Amino acid sequence: MLKVLKFGGSSLADSAQFAKVKHIVESDRTRELVVVSAPGKVNSEDNKVTDLLYLIHAHIKYGVAYDGVLAMIKQKYAEIRNGCGLKTDVEALIDETFSKVDKKTSVDFIVSRGEYFSAVLMAEYLGYTFVDAADWLSFEFSGKVNAEKSEKKLRELKSIYGRIVTPGFYGALPNGDIHVFSRGGSDITGALAAAYLDADIYENWTDVSGILMVDPRIVKNPKSIARVTYDELRELSYMGASVLHEDTVFPVRIKDIPVNIRNTNEPDNPGTIIRENFDDELEEENERFITGIAGKRNFSIINVYKSRIGEEKLGLLRQVLEVFARYDIPVEQIPSGVDSFSVVFPSESIRVRKHELMHELSEFEGIDNCALTEGISLIAIVGRQMAYRTGISGKIFKTLGDNHINIRTIEQGADEINIMVGVFDEDFEKTVRLLYESFAL
Ligand code: ASP
Repeated sequence: MLKVLKFGGSSLADSAQFAKVKHIVESDRTRELVVVSAPGKVNSEDNKVTDLLYLIHAHIKYGVAYDGVLAMIKQKYAEIRNGCGLKTDVEALIDETFSKVDKKTSVDFIVSRGEYFSAVLMAEYLGYTFVDAADWLSFEFSGKVNAEKSEKKLRELKSIYGRIVTPGFYGALPNGDIHVFSRGGSDITGALAAAYLDADIYENWTDVSGILMVDPRIVKNPKSIARVTYDELRELSYMGASVLHEDTVFPVRIKDIPVNIRNTNEPDNPGTIIRENFDDELEEENERFITGIAGKRNFSIINVYKSRIGEEKLGLLRQVLEVFARYDIPVEQIPSGVDSFSVVFPSESIRVRKHELMHELSEFEGIDNCALTEGISLIAIVGRQMAYRTGISGKIFKTLGDNHINIRTIEQGADEINIMVGVFDEDFEKTVRLLYESFAL
C-alpha cells in the first residue's frame, strides 16, 4: 500500500498547521510521499508566500528594493522553524537564494522558492528525505511534462530514499531552468507523483472536508459529497464549482487511482473520493439521486424565428452558428422549437460587439425575427444516479413551479447525468437553494 499526499497552502500556513500535517502523516505509515505547497494565509489579512514572491519579482523588474517583502517571507518560515523546533537556518537559506537573484532571474525560479523552502522544513520535521522537484519533474521546452523521464527519475529516487517530501508547483526544463505550472499547480505535482508511483490513493489535503454539494456562499453548511465520478466532477467544475486544478485529474484518472479530498483541520472526516466509477452505490447516495448542484450567472439567449422553418432548419442553424464562431462566442446550449431555435452563451462574450451581432443577425437572409434576452443563469443538477431514473426532472420542475420560478431553458444530455435549467439571474440563488433543499437528504 502506498499513499501520495499533497498539502495545500492553508495546511502549511504556520507551525500549528505543520504540526497537524505531521500528525496526519505519522498516523499512517503508508503515507510515504508528501508534496507540499508554499505556506498560505494564516488569516484574511495575511498573504500567501507565492503572492509575495510574485511581488518580489515585480520589484526586481522595476528596480525597486524588496527587503520589506522578503522580511515578511523570512518571518513566516522562521515562525514555522521555531514553532516546530527545527534546526534549518531558513533565514540563511533564503538570504543565500536571493543573493543570487537579479533582473535576469526568471519569475518561475523566484515564485517556485515558496514550495522549495516549505519542503525543506517539512522534510526535516517528518524525518523524510527532501527531494527537489527539479530533480525528477521534467518539462519539455514547450512546457509539456516529459512523463517518461519524470516517472523513471521519481521511481529511482523513491526506491533509494523510501520516504520523501518534495515541493509542488514546479519542475525543470531540459537546460535545468525552473518551470512552474499555472497557479494552484501543486495539485498536479501530487497527481503526477501518484500516477508515476502507481499509488493506491492520492490524498489531497486542504481546508474543506471534501467537495460540497453546493456553493456554501449560497447554502449555509451544505453537505459534502462522499463519492463523485470524474464525469460528474467535470460537469460540476465546468459550471463553477471550484474543486481541484483542472489538469489534476488526468494523470490519476488514466490509472484509476482514487483521489481523496481531505481536511487537514478535520482529519477524521473521510472527505470526498473521486474515481472513474463505483461498483457499489451507498444507500444514502442511492436515495439522494443527485451528487451536486452548480451554476453560473450572466448568460444571454438569442432566439431565432423563421416561420415554417421545416427542412431548412439545419442549414439555418449551421449558418447562424458560423456567425457565432466568427464572433468567437462559446455556445452553451441550443434549445429548439418548431419554428425557432435559441442559442445560449455567456453575456461577456458579446459585451463589446452586442449591437454589431444583433444587427448582422437581423439582416440575415432567412431569419424572420431574432431577439436577445440577457441576465440568464444556468444551473446544473448533476448526479450519476439520475441516469435511467424516472421522476427526477419532474421533481425539479415541480419544485421550481411551486415556487413561481420561471424556467427559461431546459437541457439534458443523453448520458442523463446532468440536467441544466436556465432561469433569470434574480432567481439564481433561490433556485439553487430550493433544488438543494428538495434533493439533499
Ligand atoms: N503556491 C502555488 C500557488 O499559490 C501553487 C500551489 O499552491 O498549488 O498557486
